[in-house]
Amino acid sequence: MTPCDKDLLYSIRMRAERGGSHLSGAERIGSALDVERMAAALARRAMTHPRGCAESIRITVEALTGEPQCARLPELTTLTVSDYRHGRELAGRCLERCGVAPPVVARAIDLLSAGAAPGGVSMRGALLLDATTGERLDPDPARGVRVSRMDLTALAASELAHQLRTVGLDNPHVREALILAGKVLLTPGIIAELCWSDDPDYVAGYVAAAAIGYVRFPQLKPAGEECGGRVFFVDRAHFELAAAIEFLQRTPVLFDRVGLIRSPRLWEEWI
Ligand code: AMP
Repeated sequence: MTPCDKDLLYSIRMRAERGGSHLSGAERIGSALDVERMAAALARRAMTHPRGCAESIRITVEALTGEPQCARLPELTTLTVSDYRHGRELAGRCLERCGVAPPVVARAIDLLSAGAAPGGVSMRGALLLDATTGERLDPDPARGVRVSRMDLTALAASELAHQLRTVGLDNPHVREALILAGKVLLTPGIIAELCWSDDPDYVAGYVAAAAIGYVRFPQLKPAGEECGGRVFFVDRAHFELAAAIEFLQRTPVLFDRVGLIRSPRLWEEWI
C-alpha cells in the first residue's frame, strides 16, 4: 500500500443484489488503513449471505469531509414476549409512553405489516410519521429515508461485542440495528423508532426512544412474513425535514461509548 493520509476517515458502503432484487447492505467507517480490510469483509458478507451468493455487489468508498460526531450508544433492554401479538402490544405501549398518539402507533404497525411502499412491499428506507397526526412526511414513499455513515470505534466495537455476548446477542443484526437506532435518536425532532426486519426468518424487532433506549422484542412479526421496515416518529415542533434527512443520510456519527446491555426481563419487572 502506498503511503496515504492516515488522518482521513472513509465511509465504506456495500449493496448487493441477487435475482434483480436487494440481497444485502452494510457499511463501515474506517481510516485509510482500514479501507481494504473493511471492503473485503463487506464483499465476503455479500458472497456468503444466507439467502444466496450475491450476483452484483457495489462497494462505495468515500473520504468523509467533516469530523464525525461522537456519541454513546443507547442502552439495550430485551423484553420477553409470548408471541408477536404480545410483542406488538408492548411495543405500542412503549411508543405511547414516549409521546406517539395511539392511532399513530396503530397506523405505523398497519403500514409495516402491509408493506409501506407502493404495491405493498417493504421500503428500502424508513418512513416518517408525525407522532401526533400520523401524517406521512417522507418525500419518496418507495425509498423512504436511508440512515447512513455511522459506525463504532474499534474500542467501542470490542466492548459492545463483549457485552452482547453475555446476553447471547452478539450478531450483526443486533449490532447494526443498535448503531442505526443510535443515530436516529440523535436527530433533532425524531422522538422514537419502530422496526422489524423484512427478512422472513428474523422475527425480532425494537422500539427506540431517548427515554427508554433500545427496547428489543424477540418476536414482533410472525415467522415467514416478508414485510418489515422502519418508522421514525416526528415531533413537528422541533423537526425540519430537509435538515433531518441531511443529518440521517450524510452526517458521520461514530459511537465511541457503549450503553448498558441488560439481560432479558418481563414488562412488569421493567416498567
Ligand atoms: P433490516 O433490519 O436490514 O432487515 O431492515 C428492515 C427494514 O428497515 C428494511 O426493509 C428497510 O425498510 C429499513 N431499513 C433498512 N436499512 C435501513 C437504513 N439504513 N436506513 C433506513 N431504513 C432502513
